[in-house]
Order: sequence, then structure tokens, then C-alpha cells
Amino acid sequence: TLKKSLGQNFLIDENILNNIASAADIDEESYVLEIGPGAGALTQVLASRGKKVIAVEIDQRLEPVLKDTLQDFDNVSVHFGDVLKLNLHQIIDQECPPGVPVKVVANLPYYVTTPILMKLLTDGLPIKTIVVMIQKEVAGRLQAEPGEKSYGSLSIAVQYLAEPKIVMTVPKTVFVPQPNVDSAVIRLDIRPEKKVKVDDETFFYKLVRASFAQRRKTLMNNLINNLYDKTQKEQLLEVLEQTGIDPGRRGETLTIEEFARLSDVLSHK
Ligand code: SAM
Repeated sequence: TLKKSLGQNFLIDENILNNIASAADIDEESYVLEIGPGAGALTQVLASRGKKVIAVEIDQRLEPVLKDTLQDFDNVSVHFGDVLKLNLHQIIDQECPPGVPVKVVANLPYYVTTPILMKLLTDGLPIKTIVVMIQKEVAGRLQAEPGEKSYGSLSIAVQYLAEPKIVMTVPKTVFVPQPNVDSAVIRLDIRPEKKVKVDDETFFYKLVRASFAQRRKTLMNNLINNLYDKTQKEQLLEVLEQTGIDPGRRGETLTIEEFARLSDVLSHK
């Protein structure tokens, strides 16, 4: 029996499985980290194309199933545990030769998409490419540009660290059981350098989150309500003027570069 709470929707379309592996350019040199192998359908494709697959699965009950589906492969090692809690540095060190880049490929459990992506992007792991199936709506947010409805703090956090590109959209009918929403495969190429230079990253993320807290409000009102207070209005107006940002604009119109500029001035105040 599958567990809905663990996001267990298994892919059954051979074509899509192949397209996912192709989107990640898996070849005989590739070391692949797969999150949530489930019954091993994608794992088989990755193992037949790649050098080695390291799979991390939370559900120990799948052990006999995986043993069976992966019996023809000697290049797969499965680690059971919660990917958010496991020490991925240690697992990668143990499974891969030092210095080789690792490609992440997964049909992610949708209830933890964001924390998993943020862990992969910010943990300093030797990851260069991430190709994942996620909710179509979330994929849209990762790729969104300023001014688009789905542009928000997640778009900025991800685009600051990686270059996202939607590879394809996938109808819910190719999963068993069917999820409630359509999906998309997205490829994230980790930037060798962050998209912009920011003096204080923690403050930058705080500023971005505050700016989007109430989407209908102006940048100014969001900053006063969520990061500063009314007594600092004049100072804030000065800073916005200094950085060339109209205080009447809404957060969703600011580019990453504008947020970075604003962050640098405010964090030095
Ligand atoms: N890869 C399989 C496929 O494509 O058919 C299964 C994908 S299914 C959407 C997500 C998988 O992630 C499930 O096998 C689930 O048990 C596993 N999973 C859920 N939460 C997890 C977590 N925190 N850490 C590791 N695996 C997790």
C-alpha cells in the first residue's frame, strides 16, 4: 500500500522516465543522486545509463521492492532515511570519488519540494545539475520573472543560486495513484557564481521575504509592516531614492539586482 502522506505517486510512463534521464544528460560517467526511488522505475533508467546511482528513500518498507526491481544492477546503492535529515556530504563522500560532480535526478515528493531544493542548493554539496519532477505550479514559480504573478521569494532564492528551465510539463494521468495536480520537469543548473553579489545574505533573504509578505501592498508598506516600523519611514524613503527604486512599486516588480542593491544599503545602516 502506498503512502499518500509521503507523496508516493509513482511514474509509469517509460517515455517520460527516459526524457527525465536525458534532460540531466546522464551518461556512463555520471554519478547520480536520486531522491525517493519509490519502486525503482526511474532508478532503473538512471542505473542503465549512468556510472552509479545513490538513492535516498524514506520508506523502509520499499526495501524488498527495490531489491527486486534493481536486482540486475550492481551500480545502485540505496540509503534509507529522510533526505532532509541525512548527511548528504557523508553519503556522497562514501559513494563517489573525490571531486566528481553529482547530478540530482528525482521525481520529488511534493509535500517537501521547497525544503529539499533549498537543501540541495545551499548545503555546499558537489552538485552541478538538478533535474526534478515537481508540481507544475511550483515549477512556474521557480522560473518566474519580475512582474509575473508567480514571481516571489522562492523565485529569487532559487534564481540567485541556479538557472532554472522547465523541460516539459507532465499530465497527472501518468502517475499511480494520480495526484491532484499536473507536474513539470525542471532543470536547475547551479551557478558557479551567485547571480548577484550581496554583502549580507541573511538580510537579503529577510528583505525579499518581507517585500512579498502582502502581495497587494507597495514595497514601502511591506517594509514598514514587516521589517521596520512607521518611525523609520523617512529614512526608508531616502534609501529607496538613493537606490533608484520608486517606493510606490510592488515587491513583485523588483529584479534580483534591485533587491541586492537595496539589501546592501539597508544592511549597512
Ligand atoms: N521515483 C519514484 C517514481 O518516479 O515512480 C517515486 C517518486 S514519489 C513521487 C516520491 C518518493 O519519495 C516516494 O518513494 C517517497 O516514499 C519518497 N520520499 C518522501 N519523502 C521523502 C523524504 N523526506 N526523504 C526521502 N524520500 C522521501
